[in-house]
Amino acid sequence: MKNRDYDLFVIGAGSGGVRAARIAAGFGARVAIAEDRYMGGTCVNVGCVPKKLYVYASEFGKAFKDGKNFGWNGETPHFDWATLRDNKKAEISRLNSIYENLLAGAKADVIKGHARIVDAHTVAVGEQRFAAEKILIATGGWPHIPQFPGSELAISSNEVFDLAQFPKRLAIVGGGYIAVEFAGIFNGLGARVTQLYRGPLFLRGFDADIRAHAAKEIAKTGVDLRFGVNVQSIASGPGGLQVMLTDGTAIEVDTVLYATGRRANLEGLGLENVKVKIDDHGNIEVDDQYRTSEPSIFALGDVTGGIELTPVALAEGMSFARRQFGGLQDAVDYDFIPTAVFCQPNIGTVGFTEDAARARFGKLRVFKSAFKPMKHTISGRDEQTFMKLIVDSASDRVVGAHMVGQDAGEIMQGIAIALRAGATKAVFDTTIGIHPTAAEEFVTMREVWRED
Ligand code: FAD
Ligand code: NDP
Repeated sequence: MKNRDYDLFVIGAGSGGVRAARIAAGFGARVAIAEDRYMGGTCVNVGCVPKKLYVYASEFGKAFKDGKNFGWNGETPHFDWATLRDNKKAEISRLNSIYENLLAGAKADVIKGHARIVDAHTVAVGEQRFAAEKILIATGGWPHIPQFPGSELAISSNEVFDLAQFPKRLAIVGGGYIAVEFAGIFNGLGARVTQLYRGPLFLRGFDADIRAHAAKEIAKTGVDLRFGVNVQSIASGPGGLQVMLTDGTAIEVDTVLYATGRRANLEGLGLENVKVKIDDHGNIEVDDQYRTSEPSIFALGDVTGGIELTPVALAEGMSFARRQFGGLQDAVDYDFIPTAVFCQPNIGTVGFTEDAARARFGKLRVFKSAFKPMKHTISGRDEQTFMKLIVDSASDRVVGAHMVGQDAGEIMQGIAIALRAGATKAVFDTTIGIHPTAAEEFVTMREVWRED
């Protein structure tokens, strides 16, 4: 083994790759990690982090209005895109250096450049070749924009953060996480946003009541939500981009953002040189230990097409390194993974949707709470919070918790611990609330809303 340059060569310094590299090096493995674009990967550079910073920015506009009835009077400040964009850039540069230092501290060699697999134990970066006992592919995903007339005029989430000009009129295509989050961001920053989704109701895969409630609340904030419609073509005109829709109408906008999913990033990776299998969706196929069909090559994170979330990639990186280099056996537990959509108001969710719970457990009791948040009794903002608990009738176990409302992401993290611990509805009922909060509603839902 020691004849080779490294025990582990990681391709991609994103969430999963960096975690795997650091933990493996901590066990004494000789580790290299190649990165061809940006340290920290999607999450740090064009994902979670800049997105959340922009969400914060977009919430100020509403807060200035909310303040009026609380006695805060005066002129509303105006928004400057360049200030936000450039401050975001500076913060991301700071994080890039932190990632580099973390890897240096762990004694992993950082190799800057595009990595290509040459054979089952060799990786090339430029003119250099490295021999490794094990290779880990953690190259993440890349936005996918379908081909249609004018599709080259659309941008993806990769470009939206650094636009030279603020788009006063923005069309967003898609009904997943990215589309709804960016609709909220640009609407909050003052753009006129039209969101176009091909199906009858966006956020497919989330609980039906949550989807319906989120659509109602988002529409109230001023986003022009259009369902059952898609883009036919985009053309450049004198006043902006002319977007022809499948319902025969057209809209004129400054920018079209496509948020229609991401594909595994396998570009120039050299997979033709090894026996790594790709599934029907273009993702790398792995077993439950992240082994590909080539025994010395492993893959994890978004490139495997699993649950595309940073904490999942981190957990997979940790599990891989512990098993391969630490002699430990801990596997990732994929049950009850909580998630938040940072639309406005937020969605927070953990466990089964009502439909999936009914299919899995049979008879259910479902509880809900819908209310105007206390803050808006005075602010006058027209916003309703919605919460829902799904209980397996046979065991009394709470198997799903869902919320649309301010801080739903923050609230759901704690609820996820309870659900993973197997908490029953009786445990929720005997938990004392924290008053006055919205979260306390989760322990005071007494009346059954729907019972099988
Ligand atoms: P990545 O983080 O994508 O890292 C892959 C790295 O590999 C990249 O740095 C890439 O440059 C590099 N690379 C690729 N090919 C090569 C090569 N051949 N040689 C060298 N380097 C290479 N998740 C959340 O949990 N919460 C959120 O709020 C959230 N928001 C998001 C918002 C947006 C707009 C997007 C796009 C994603 C968001 N995600 C969020 C998802 C999250 O970013 C991903 O799930 C996570 O980054 C996946 O990590 P990864 O390690 O698999 O890949
Ligand atoms: P998603 O898979 O979440 O959503 C893609 C959307 O695009 C769906 O509504 C889909 O419709 C639609 N779509 C797909 N193809 C087409 C097409 N040809 N024409 C029109 N519409 C189309 O992907 P995103 O790009 O939003 O995000 C990628 C992933 O990144 C997410 O799934 C999530 O895992 C992660 N992410 C996580 C975040 C978080 O944790 N807060 C935030 C942002 C991203 P349909 O439903 O009909 O298939």
